Amino acid sequence: MSLSTSIQTPIVTFEQPLGLFINNQFVKGLEGKTFETVNPTTEKPIVSVHEGTAEDVDIAVKVAREAFELWAEVTPSNRGRMLTKLADLFERDIETLAAIESLDNGKSLIMAKNDVRNAAGCLRYYGGWADKIIGQTIDTGNETLTYTRHEPIGVCGQIIPWNFPILIWAWKVGPAIAVGNTVIVKTAEQTPLSALYACRLIIEAGFPPGVINVISGFGRTAGAAISSHMEIDKVAFTGSTLVGRTILQAAATSNLKKVSLELGGKSPNIVFDDADIDNAISWSNYGIFYNHGQCCCAGSRLLVQEGIYDKFIARFKERAAQNRVGDPFAPDTFQGPQISQLQFDRIMEYINHGKEEGATLALGGERHGTKGYFIQPTIFTDVTSNMKIAQEEIFGPIIVVQKFKDEADAIKIGNSTSYGLAAGVHTSNLNRAIRMSNALKAGTVWVNNYNMISYQAPFGGFKQSGFGRELGSYALENYTQIKAVVCRLTDAPF
Ligand code: ADP
Repeated sequence: MSLSTSIQTPIVTFEQPLGLFINNQFVKGLEGKTFETVNPTTEKPIVSVHEGTAEDVDIAVKVAREAFELWAEVTPSNRGRMLTKLADLFERDIETLAAIESLDNGKSLIMAKNDVRNAAGCLRYYGGWADKIIGQTIDTGNETLTYTRHEPIGVCGQIIPWNFPILIWAWKVGPAIAVGNTVIVKTAEQTPLSALYACRLIIEAGFPPGVINVISGFGRTAGAAISSHMEIDKVAFTGSTLVGRTILQAAATSNLKKVSLELGGKSPNIVFDDADIDNAISWSNYGIFYNHGQCCCAGSRLLVQEGIYDKFIARFKERAAQNRVGDPFAPDTFQGPQISQLQFDRIMEYINHGKEEGATLALGGERHGTKGYFIQPTIFTDVTSNMKIAQEEIFGPIIVVQKFKDEADAIKIGNSTSYGLAAGVHTSNLNRAIRMSNALKAGTVWVNNYNMISYQAPFGGFKQSGFGRELGSYALENYTQIKAVVCRLTDAPF
């Protein structure tokens, strides 16, 4: 099979790389395997890409190790300049990158463009950080000089999911590269294409060979090879809590590589009687149905105070029913298909569970159309905290609604899952907003909005939603290790 092919989409035709990207070259996997990536809108294969397995990871690690030594010789400003250039190239090729995302992932073109814009912004942001990494000088008395250096960790494995293929790629690559690491990214097997296209831009941006490597492949083979590799110094993972545990175990039983995990969620979105109802409805709708519910931070539990409950739910249903579900390339589409048959089946199973557990199906609950992995926007009411649909991450366009009495009740229900990624609070009472934000056990609290992620602000989980923070200056901590240097300025006293 060749190493690239031409792909036509409704908005652009482009040359799509298909190989693994190692040492700035597109290559075939050593085992000669390939796998298909499927268009979730049509259920038909788009193309096959070359598959990386453990041996390919080995080669990438060797290359990345050598590159690490050379990368350390590149000045921080020049590292930053390359990231900035890469950001410019993302913006130049926004139509192509967005079209690939819509094709391979199924997200609407408008959302895909947003992802590419944010990916570019994120790369540029970390390009800015590259020459601003500073340590401390610490007063340990006049006879010593003590200071710290924030040094790169080395070769980083980065395992990413399919819900934001190019955006999360940028979240991972940006901070790691800015501070002088080299990386091996394993993309999700469902969505390998946009990262491969970005590899061409990596060459164009002037990155030396081996600094950024990208492997298409499966979790159990390529992913496991990364998390258990003895020569990988750090692994960063975004995905399910189940796989996060496996990765942590593999790190522990191999070389104790550093680990950061951004995992699942079951985030409460809490609407008080005193909220601005129109805004709360818009944000709640966006909170769950954006990206077809395939966000780890999705506001998948809607908690509504009893005073406005009936009115709110009636209007929320109306609003959700208006979301345009359909072809990602159609200009008015809001919700595209779920990523795969597997996810489609999992979600439909949860819908059945909800019915069996006695929740009321207030909207949707069925497949949308006859072709593609589309699911209707779905609302369950009369949900109680002990139900499976209130506890487990569904990762689809399904929201469960619970009624609450007062702040204490909202906090109790809000904090009642094993996750702690995000939460939303809608109220016009400032003191209440701050009290609630303090009480909710979540890595992000959105007040009078939802899903507003900025690359300048940290993102990550409390409880079983993971550890380590992505984005903002905090992400730099994931990719640096601190060295204390102690200099004696006088002769030995003994
Ligand atoms: P989902 O269930 O939504 O596909 P996963 O957590 O399974 O999410 O996948 C996220 C990423 O983790 C993907 O790149 C996938 O290939 C990878 N992955 C899956 N299983 C493993 C594993 N055992 N070890 C390492 N990576 C894995």
